[in-house]
Amino acid sequence: EIPELSVPQFVLAGVAERADRPALIDGLSGETITHGELAFYVERVAAALHAKGLRKGDVVAVFSPNTIWYPVVFHGIAAAGCVISPVNALYTPEEIAFQLKDSGAKVLVTVSPFLDRALAAVEKSPVDEVIVMDGAEGHTSLRDLITADAPAVQVDIDPANDLITLPYSSGTTGLPKGVMLTHRNLVANVSQSRPLAGVDEGNERIIAVLPFFHIYGLTVLMNQGLQWGGAVVTLPRFDLEQFLRTIQDQKITRAFVAPPIVLALAKHPMVDQFDLSSLRSVTSGAAPLDESLAQAAQDRLRKGAAEGTAVGQGYGMTELSPVSHTTPEAGLEPAGAGETPKGTVGYALPNTECRLIDPATGSDAAPGERGELWVRGPQVMKGYLNNPQATAETLDDEGWLHTGDVAIVDDEGRYTVVDRVKELIKYKGYQVAPAELEAVLLNNPQIADAAVIGVLDKESGDELPKAFVVRAPGSEISEDDVKAYMAEHVAPHKKIRLVEFIEQVPKSMAGKILRKDLKNR
Ligand code: ATP
Ligand code: MG
Repeated sequence: EIPELSVPQFVLAGVAERADRPALIDGLSGETITHGELAFYVERVAAALHAKGLRKGDVVAVFSPNTIWYPVVFHGIAAAGCVISPVNALYTPEEIAFQLKDSGAKVLVTVSPFLDRALAAVEKSPVDEVIVMDGAEGHTSLRDLITADAPAVQVDIDPANDLITLPYSSGTTGLPKGVMLTHRNLVANVSQSRPLAGVDEGNERIIAVLPFFHIYGLTVLMNQGLQWGGAVVTLPRFDLEQFLRTIQDQKITRAFVAPPIVLALAKHPMVDQFDLSSLRSVTSGAAPLDESLAQAAQDRLRKGAAEGTAVGQGYGMTELSPVSHTTPEAGLEPAGAGETPKGTVGYALPNTECRLIDPATGSDAAPGERGELWVRGPQVMKGYLNNPQATAETLDDEGWLHTGDVAIVDDEGRYTVVDRVKELIKYKGYQVAPAELEAVLLNNPQIADAAVIGVLDKESGDELPKAFVVRAPGSEISEDDVKAYMAEHVAPHKKIRLVEFIEQVPKSMAGKILRKDLKNR
């Protein structure tokens, strides 16, 4: 039942009926692209790229913050049969060059403020043309592509085998890996996510503040957002005030976010100054979200009412295009299941099989026990690019993707993600999840933000849980206070042994704690 379509065909399928309605709105300037214009521009970009000699399978890298033109370029490249490799907007020239070389990109599409970094990277790469969307001396612009007198192209795309995108994983646990995703992977994932979402076709307004360059923004915000037929409102970066004002002024109905934004919604004083009542749901993904934080954010958004904005969660990874689990809209739970508890990532999507594997025995974990989550379904990647060893370690012969995350499932089929296998702190034979300790720390009103890592103690060989703590405004909480507070709330083997106060927890644009940066301090 997965439509046999390319991603642009699938996403743009209904545009004739909604041609004059806004598809993309710049949250800062208000500049708008309608669905009809989007379809027209996409066709023109594809034609111009073809005329430049680009052919099916050629890789085009895109290095840009979120703008209303990003989806035009994305679908234009895809309609030409080429493969988009989205580049992290914060990357240095060295990091960009690694991705350009690894992916074999022929063209790089960027914006003028990024041009210096782009050109420095291109020197050390196979790229032979740089396109600057908003124009720059000596480079083709998006306007040039759209207005070029190129004949329309019809490229034959085989959705099950042809790649549409080569996103790189976040590099949390090592070097980023190029993930091969087909048109079918993305079409399947948007289709699978729909039944649990309760979509109001044509009327949803989605805020796109998480970056399009990460798979979450790429699929959930961009493709799903457009496929639902409403409008996607873009912001180039997360700024709390801008985010809240945009929700209010643009009457946003859905916010797909990451835990740092939920943290702000729960704790920041500014939130009460805005009318956020248009929001039907806030869905968090990309990193663990604690139950009480989710509840606190929801209570705050509902202003004491029993109904209103729902705060939920999704779980996924680049290798899963990216979603495998989500909490359903109220009323769409399986019969008799009742409200989905906060803190869970909800149910497996339709056509998504899951197993939990006990790392000690390699067989299925006993009911109610933790295990490594394995996932199988049409959203599972084809493999890693240029990395057969990593592919073999992650994707087995029967099509199971080994996620590297520890999870647990309840009797109703709702999953809770504990943490990554690799992040678990090994202390005296126990395995302590940093996410659990971070959640307890965040429950303390004196603490604005926190992150936990394991620090190797050379004498004992144990990893000691160390907390990095950001004090709440006006708080003078001390190292001893933090330790005493934790000792009161967690079992002795989970106690925080070391505390360091910092100004800000380093996080990626996609909302993940950069533990590597904390370890290297
Ligand atoms: P790399 O694979 O390069 O080390 P990464 O795993 O951070 O980086 P992504 O594919 O962006 O790269 O992130 C997927 C990971 O994000 C998952 O494996 C999981 O650890 C985490 N994650 C995503 N959603 C959730 C969630 N709702 N709760 C807990 N963790 C989540
Ligand atoms: Mg990963």
